[in-house]
Order: sequence, then C-alpha cells, then structure tokens
Amino acid sequence: MKLLSPDNYVAGVLAGDRRMLSKTITLIESALPAHQAIARQILGLLLPKTGNAVRLGITGVPGVGKSAFIESFGVMLVGKGHRVAVLAVDPSSARSGGSVMADKTRMERLSQRPEAYIRPSPSGGTLGGVARKTRETMLVCEAAGFDVVIVETVGVGQSETTVASMVDFFLVLLLAGAGDELQGIKKGILELADALAVNKADGDNRVRAERAAKVYELALHLLQPSSPQWSPPVLTCSALEMNGVEAIWDTVLRHRAVFGPSGELEERRRQQAVAWMWSLVEEGLKDRFARQPDVRRQLPRILHEVERGSLAPTAAADRLLFSLDSGT
Ligand code: GDP
Repeated sequence: MKLLSPDNYVAGVLAGDRRMLSKTITLIESALPAHQAIARQILGLLLPKTGNAVRLGITGVPGVGKSAFIESFGVMLVGKGHRVAVLAVDPSSARSGGSVMADKTRMERLSQRPEAYIRPSPSGGTLGGVARKTRETMLVCEAAGFDVVIVETVGVGQSETTVASMVDFFLVLLLAGAGDELQGIKKGILELADALAVNKADGDNRVRAERAAKVYELALHLLQPSSPQWSPPVLTCSALEMNGVEAIWDTVLRHRAVFGPSGELEERRRQQAVAWMWSLVEEGLKDRFARQPDVRRQLPRILHEVERGSLAPTAAADRLLFSLDSGT
C-alpha cells in the first residue's frame, strides 16, 4: 500500500470518505512499524473529533442472533437518521484462522446502506491486540461522523470484559432455554450487562422467551446493581421480525438520560481511557521484557530451575527483572 501523508488520511476521514476510512483502519490493523507510526499520527490528529458516538457493546453465544439483531437494529437506527458503524472483537479468528462470527455479508440490508459501515474483526494477534485495533477503529469511525458505534463480540475468553470496557452500554443477547437458562450463562456476564434481551421471541418461542426473561430478571435481582440508579432491564425481542428492537434503543437512550447529565457517562469513559493506557503500558512492558537479550538468554535455564524446585519463584523473578533494569 502506498502511503500518503497523515493529513490526507485525516481530511478523508473527516470528509466521510469511506475509502480513506478503510485505508486508515487498515493502517491501524497493520503490524508494520511504518504503518503503526503513521496510524498513531492520524489518530492523534483525529482525537479532538472523537467521542461523539453512542458506543454500544453486544455479546451473545454463536447462533443467538447477533448478526440478525445488529442488522435490524442498524436498519432501524439508519431510518431514524443515524449513521452506524459495526465493529467486531473476535479473538477466535486469531487462534483458529477462521472466525466464529463468520463473514459479515450476513448483514446484507445494513451493509448496503451508505449510512452504515461494517468492518469485520481484525485478524491475528492476542485479545489485547485485537481490542486495541477495535478501540482505535471506533475513534476513527467517530471522527468520520458515525454517531452510533456497535462493537460485537462472540464471547471467547475475556472478550466480553474487553468490549464492556470500551463502550457506554453493554447489551447481552440471550436465548430461551428449556427452563435451565442460568446453567448456560457464562460466569460474570450478568455483572457486565447494562441490559439483557432474550432474542427469538417470535412464533412458538414467544412465551418461552418471556418466561426466560422473568428468570433472568430474578437472577439480576440477586446481584448488587453497579449503580443505584440503574437496574439492568430484561427485554425480549425478535431480530427477525424487528419486534422489540426499538425498545432496546429506547433503553440505551434512557441509560444516557440517567448517566449523561450527571457526568457519570463521561466518568466511565475517563476511567476506560486510563485503564486502557495501563493495559497498553503492561503490554509494552511484557513485550520489552520478552525481547530483552539477557532475559531471552537466561529464561530457559531459570524456567527449568523453577520447575525442578531448585530456584524459588521469587528469586527467579528478581533475577529476570534485574536483567530488565540493567538492560534499559
Ligand atoms: P449470531 O451467530 O449470533 O450472529 O446469530 P445469527 O444472527 O447468525 O442467527 C443465527 C440463526 O438464528 C439464523 O438462522 C437466524 O436467522 C436465526 N435468528 C436470528 N434472530 C432470530 C429471531 O429473532 N427469531 C428467529 N426465529 N430466528 C432468529
């Protein structure tokens, strides 16, 4: 890819030029140092134009209907005059080479709309790496004028926590089970949710979905709400029939009406930014550590000694960290 000057990318993104938007995101996703350097410059220049979107996270197991939901939800939002960007965090594609979320041509109606922009999950790298790229892509989309950014995740490993830490509102999509709803739910997921929605509440499944919603509601009551002003509601919807989808958007708006004026939403974003900085520092330190020649030289022997029990873990850690000190 021929590189332009950062100003060209910035101007293109700010003008809403989709090709320049895609090129900028490709730079963000690139592993090449030259691309990363220019991506950082572009982001720095775009930063004052970011922050103006409703940031929404959506998770749910494969098959729950995330694509169908985002399609209906996105089309509804576009109909209301919004511009919607859809991003994804899917660390499974890094491990298996294939994405659990498959390809996003599933959102056919939405992807054809000029007011929507759908970008699949960056491939390759750790969850931390994928998350950084998605976070930065979110900022670029905001600068390009998208006022709703949806970040979807399939919930591999810690990916829900990661996505929850980059959005204003985290929606968990669920299915009606056979009365054992809570069995199948991933530990800790209810704590992250700002709202739950039982999808596929249509046809014969409607009554079961409503019953399931009651069960989830009871379960939520047992949890300490993260704020005294907000108890995560449990809704039902049908992505396929576009039922209950608008009520979910109303819930997002209600959440903003509660937390926006009080400054709590801003505070949430501030905390997220600081936490993000620390996680980048941590990642950078680990990376430098692993590349330190002294560490690389000593590590196999030290590991062996710790495994054998001939060196205490504390002493081993001291020795390795000392190489980091002396090497920098
Ligand atoms: P994802 O893996 O979470 O993205 O799920 P998909 O959006 O690909 O949906 C999985 C399957 O469930 C597809 O066959 C959809 O047509 C179907 N589906 C999704 N939403 C609904 C719904 O609201 N009602 C019904 N009956 N089926 C749905």
